Parts: sequence; C-alpha cells; structure tokens
Amino acid sequence: MIVAKEKKFDDILAMVKEYDRILVLGCGTCTAVCHSGGEKEAEDLAFRLQGKLSLISPDKEVRAANIERQCEIDFLREFLTQAEWADVVISLACGAGVQSLVQILEDKPVFPGTDTTFIGSYTGEGTWTEMCRACGECILHLTGGICPVTRCAKKLLNGPCGGTSSYGYCEVGQGKPCAWHQIIQRLEALNKLHLYEDIAPLKRWAPDPTDNGPRKRIFPGVGQHWK
Ligand code: SF4
Ligand code: SF4
Repeated sequence: MIVAKEKKFDDILAMVKEYDRILVLGCGTCTAVCHSGGEKEAEDLAFRLQGKLSLISPDKEVRAANIERQCEIDFLREFLTQAEWADVVISLACGAGVQSLVQILEDKPVFPGTDTTFIGSYTGEGTWTEMCRACGECILHLTGGICPVTRCAKKLLNGPCGGTSSYGYCEVGQGKPCAWHQIIQRLEALNKLHLYEDIAPLKRWAPDPTDNGPRKRIFPGVGQHWK
C-alpha cells in the first residue's frame, strides 16, 4: 500500500486560510489504513481547522467528507455534488489521489493534506516499511522476493558492495540489514542460489524512454482511465 504522513497543521492552515468554505476529503483506502488520511483523520483535521479559522472570521466553514478511493474516477464522480459547496478541497489521499481530484475538479483548487512517502507493508506496531519503488521492471523472481532497488542502500543489482558487516548488516549502519545478505540467504533456502551467479542486465531506470509524460497503464478491454 501507499504510505503517507499528515502534513504539518500550520502548513495546511496557511494553504486554506484565504478561503471561506473548506472541504477536507479523506480517502478510505491506503491513507486510511496508515491512519494519516481516512474518515476519522478528515473529521479531526476539519475540527481543528474550524477552530483556528473561526478566529479569523465567523463566515469560515470547514466540512469533512470521505470517499472510498480518490485515485478512481468512478468514486470521484459520486463526490462532485458535495464538492460544489466548497471553495477549496484539502485531500488526505496520496499524491495520485490529489491529482485525480484535480482532473475532475477543473475550476477548484485541490491541496494536499498529506505527504506521500512510499509503497510499503505493515511491519507491526504502527510501522510500515518501504518495500517497492515502483521501478516498472520487477526482478523479485530473481532475487528471492527481496527488492534490492528499495532495500539496498546503493540499489545494487548484482550482489553486495563489499561493505556488508560479518553479521549481515549494511555499511550505512543504523541497524539496517544488508539486502544482498538477505537475498543470498533466501536463495539458499529456496535452493535457487544459481540465480545469484547470473549477471543482471543494466536496468532501464526510465521504464519507458519513449514516454515523456506520466506512466500510464491501459488494461485490455477496460480502456483509458482518464480522457
Ligand atoms: S524490483 Fe523492487 S522497486 Fe522494482 S517493481 Fe519490483 S519490488 Fe518494486
Ligand atoms: S552493505 Fe548490502 S545493502 Fe548496504 S549498500 Fe552494500 S550491498 Fe547494499
């Protein structure tokens, strides 16, 4: 899932204080799960903004709303009527959700209420660990399911750098395990160590060098997401 953290309250306040009708929009998927932008967080932020903005003018009103997925156009269409009321929308979704809203609310400002940080998985006790950088050319089948692009400090694709400690830690320190130590251990356990002998080709860091704009996936039979 996509992990995000709440923006500083004062930064959000500065974005919206010139407007009278402010709608804080939570997203019911990724940012809800990591407790930075779901329904509860939207209501909480709206309440705090209302408290501060009422001191500036009694005419200012802040409302909260929530939709299941801000990155999906079908969910956004349902929201259009609610959005009519607002002068500005603060989106608590990831950056993709914010930009999806921008495409549908052409004449209304949409501002981010979160900072999108990474694609990660839940690793317990309210923490998420980065697992993927969406590089567009997945090699997990060659690396025992452990991503060197994300988890090796140098993004090495052909084995460790030589700085790995004898206990299997990365030379950058901070108790970070060496990704390549983990990959080799995992390949060994899977009896696939021969994969480590293969030289990985140079990576195309731009997944599609002919594409000058944002990457787009078109699913067969479904068509484009956006017109
Ligand atoms: S190689 Fe790593 S960064 Fe690239 S898609 Fe696979 S998991 Fe994500
Ligand atoms: S010690 Fe391991 S994880 Fe750290 S940079 Fe070197 S190969 Fe990558």
